[in-house]
Amino acid sequence: MKRAVFRFYAELNELLTRERRGSEVAHEFRGEPSVKDVIESMGVPHTEVELVLGDGEPVDFSWRLRDRARVAVYPRFRSLDVGPLTRVGPRLVGEPRFVLDGHLGRLARYLRMAGFDVRWDARAGDEALARIAAEEGRVLVTRDRGLLKRRCVAHGYCVRSLEPARQLAEVAHRFELATLAAPFRRCLVCNGLLEPVAKRSVAEQLPPRVRERCDELWRCGSCGKLYWAGSHVRRMERLLDDVLGGRYDVAGRSRMAKSTDRIEKQVLLRAPRARVWRALTDIREFGTWFRVKLETGFALGAVARGHVTYPGYEHFVFEATVERMEPERLLSWRWHPAPAGAGVDYSKEPTTLVTFTLEDAPEGTRLTVVESGFDALPPERREQAFRMNEGGWTTQVENVSRHVSGA
Ligand SMILES: [Zn+2]
Repeated sequence: MKRAVFRFYAELNELLTRERRGSEVAHEFRGEPSVKDVIESMGVPHTEVELVLGDGEPVDFSWRLRDRARVAVYPRFRSLDVGPLTRVGPRLVGEPRFVLDGHLGRLARYLRMAGFDVRWDARAGDEALARIAAEEGRVLVTRDRGLLKRRCVAHGYCVRSLEPARQLAEVAHRFELATLAAPFRRCLVCNGLLEPVAKRSVAEQLPPRVRERCDELWRCGSCGKLYWAGSHVRRMERLLDDVLGGRYDVAGRSRMAKSTDRIEKQVLLRAPRARVWRALTDIREFGTWFRVKLETGFALGAVARGHVTYPGYEHFVFEATVERMEPERLLSWRWHPAPAGAGVDYSKEPTTLVTFTLEDAPEGTRLTVVESGFDALPPERREQAFRMNEGGWTTQVENVSRHVSGA
């Protein structure tokens, strides 16, 4: 019999049996098992692990355990800087999106309340959850460790607590959600985006007390549910405040749907995903609806460059560095938003990140456009760029919608 010694660090210990926590764990084995299989046999799914050192060297999950090996296992944590060391898992880029197991309904509502994109279906089976996580690049959150051991699940989190508020705190900690939260932006029921709605237009649908007292109303763009700032909203606000440490803006009357850092637009396109993907990435198609004449197209890590053809903006340069390109699912690029005029050098300024996400929807494709990172811009530029692109994306989303429907 061969023997290896394991040491698990930080919160990974929570996943071990009590007697193994915080100490070296001896493991006896035969043959040459992969380090992934052994770590998972001790109760730690691979989605929880950031870094594995085998005899002092970073190794990947396929590393074969040898006799007398010493293995150190470190948790995934977004801000853990492993520097030049090799991570065992892929890095989670951008704002995390989630898919939650059926038993986590309350947590799904809390996360949506904090503004995050969460897929949840009480009846979803393991197969469907793993597939959605893999295909849509979502973080699979579950208490079922077996589910997280599946190889196709790249990003996941094993919930420790049984209590929903604690679960929210765990997920917020692990994925550093405090600075990303934009509360009251999403429908708690269906995950759709909320939009402000004029009181007059929905007055008959409101309970009398709400009609009297609430002037600010929001409607879910997907299911039509109405939202107003009632007592349950204040209770939820307090919860988010406790968990996220009040690092988002809850003050002010227009807290719902309010963010100065990001613009988000969502549209249902009556076209299959392949068609929408072509409209986003084909140099000519993109040029037609976005109104830009590109000299170089979209390729991973490359710069798409050209001139804006929008009347009155012809002197603007279009220059976008492609950061992610996952066919028919996700395209993201970085650029300098809303150039204020020709001849101004923005190269020292931080860029914003534009992300297009494509999802299947009953009648076609749901396209979500997010531009984030405005808060990092110099204050005098931020407001102008935000305002300009807020209106700009509204127009562009209409343009792409017309373009793919052939209207
Ligand atoms: Zn809804």
